Amino acid sequence: MQWVEDVDAVRRLVAETRAQQHTLGLVPTMGALHRGHVALLHALRPEVDRLVLSIFVNPTQFGPREDFAQYPRALASDRAWAEAAHVDAVFCPATSVMYPIPPSTFVQVEGIDQVLEGAVRPTHFRGVATVVSKLLNLWTPDVIALGQKDAQQVVVVRRMLQELLWPTRLVVVPTVREPDGLALSSRNVYLSPAERQAAVVLHRSLDAALQAVRRGERDGARVAAELAAAIQAEPLAQLDYAVVVDAATLAPVTRLAGRVLVAVAARFGTTRLLDNCCLAVDEDDVRTVLA
Ligand code: AMP
Repeated sequence: MQWVEDVDAVRRLVAETRAQQHTLGLVPTMGALHRGHVALLHALRPEVDRLVLSIFVNPTQFGPREDFAQYPRALASDRAWAEAAHVDAVFCPATSVMYPIPPSTFVQVEGIDQVLEGAVRPTHFRGVATVVSKLLNLWTPDVIALGQKDAQQVVVVRRMLQELLWPTRLVVVPTVREPDGLALSSRNVYLSPAERQAAVVLHRSLDAALQAVRRGERDGARVAAELAAAIQAEPLAQLDYAVVVDAATLAPVTRLAGRVLVAVAARFGTTRLLDNCCLAVDEDDVRTVLA
């Protein structure tokens, strides 16, 4: 497994890959890897000749009062996870490699970047779209994998790929969970034992919403109210949002039909966690699908 830190090494590796007519897959992460990230690696491993994992805690996707400085870093265990998943190369650039001068060029997917997560974190998706663009420019991957857990990120990146005419394919991987349903997240390490127990309410609220839709509920506001009520019943949870939106436009839906995203966010102490599920709904059927 190669460890790559600078642009020249990336370009050499990409040239070599292309000369051999090999395909290349990229899994972008911020490190502190867990089984959720590994699922993305496993999803791409059989699809490509060369599998690249990027680890970069991207400053431009953090707001001024967010946890950039404290974000967990765990390069030794990340390396072990990567080896075990048969990654060919780990790209672990310094901030000065990705941002050689103070940035004035950004990629912004307007509109859908200002709702849900974007309403609380207005520059977050601009940072995500910008860093993913840089990774695409450097690695020219045939395919990238993103997790369902960050469904809005999937929607934003998919729109960016389409609008900027990137030929790169996007694979979405189901959310990996703890046995009690909590979605794995690098930020779960911040939770106290009591908050960790309380955090399972996110998954429970999605389950309650899914059951309501299975019983025939099609009113978006009522499903959203059910989600919110489930989260507000947990004293350690502070609800940020509980919404039912169109899976492509992220606009609220009044009547559930077609593909909808059911998404929740809440704070447990100082830790903000997300969860979601995507549903394909028609009059008498509902299926869970990927974003
Ligand atoms: P991060 O390092 O948190 O930026 O995440 C990198 C990628 O891993 C993103 O595409 C996430 O959606 C994905 N990811 C994070 N947690 C999970 C999970 N529990 N299940 C599936 N994918 C995940």
